[in-house]
Amino acid sequence: RMYKRQMIRRRDIDNLNVPFLAIYESLIPPEEEKVKQRQLLALLEKLVNKEWPKAQLFIYGSCANSFGVSKSDIDICLAIEEANMEKSDILMKLADILQSDNLQNVQALTRARVPIVKLMDPATGISCDICINNLLAVVNTKLLRDYAQIDARLRQLAFIIKHWAKSRGVNETYHGTLSSYAYVLMCIHFLQQRRPAILPCLQEMESTYSVNVDNVNCAYFDKVGRLADFGRPNKETIAQLVWGFFYYWAYCHDYANSVISVRTGSIISKREKDWTRRVGNDRHLICIEDPFEISHDLGRVVDKRSIKVLREEFERAADIMQYDPNPCVKLFEPY
Ligand code: ATP
Ligand code: MG
Repeated sequence: RMYKRQMIRRRDIDNLNVPFLAIYESLIPPEEEKVKQRQLLALLEKLVNKEWPKAQLFIYGSCANSFGVSKSDIDICLAIEEANMEKSDILMKLADILQSDNLQNVQALTRARVPIVKLMDPATGISCDICINNLLAVVNTKLLRDYAQIDARLRQLAFIIKHWAKSRGVNETYHGTLSSYAYVLMCIHFLQQRRPAILPCLQEMESTYSVNVDNVNCAYFDKVGRLADFGRPNKETIAQLVWGFFYYWAYCHDYANSVISVRTGSIISKREKDWTRRVGNDRHLICIEDPFEISHDLGRVVDKRSIKVLREEFERAADIMQYDPNPCVKLFEPY
């Protein structure tokens, strides 16, 4: 099912810039929230370092990648070298250390797909998940944050898309729809594909940053301050881009054959990745290559039922952008 609907841009599309930017602004976390997050991190560091002086804590995910909306939970990674300890024992011990202070609901979830300690800080009301040695997530967090600094439209677009996905119930990996991380990669890919491009492909440029994590070399150009003018030649507005994003995923993406790849700044073929058939639970119905773990398809959670839901949501959104008199309301209507 790959058909092209004629692209008729509504004449009043740019009237939507003001309301979209207002939605974006309303979602930005206030500075005091950031302060509280840093306070909580400092408290946790103190407690952890009492037991493990060389261990380090890193914030990753939406609180550090600049795509976090107000009131997000914090994702924290504990980097620790404990050759003689099982991960689950580290987690139990960590839960123990934190329990003894004035934190609430400290729980070790040792059997989750990603084992974590969960807790809530009553002083700030912030919840956080702490995982162990998930350093690839720390590095992909930096990549996303670096992309966000190149052109302001990325952060605006991603906030609006995340808000849409949450409102429409299509941001739930355990129900077969996509993670926030996947949506941000879809936004980056989309902006790399515009002509003129709004974002470059940092991993194809001369690398100024390079680390090895879990046998993966993560290298890219991270001097993004030098790219502040990169997107300038493209004058598309946020309203045009939101509309274009939905249109792209509704009517232009070749779901049967294509993989989107932020790593290469282009589309690659499923055949080339050997993602043409179902292997175990990975069905590859929408393919989004992880920028560093390139054998990892972020669309792997999507199944036969949820791909239909997703595509119908993209079509609904594209049609609203094209025809609805009041897209900024209709788009985010609860499902
Ligand atoms: P939200 O605002 O919804 O909490 P988030 O940015 O924290 O958004 P998540 O999808 O919860 O996004 O992911 C948190 C972080 O975990 C991501 O930034 C990424 O670094 C990492 N991550 C999430 N899913 C994957 C995955 N499937 N593979 C690799 N890393 C992932
Ligand atoms: Mg998160």
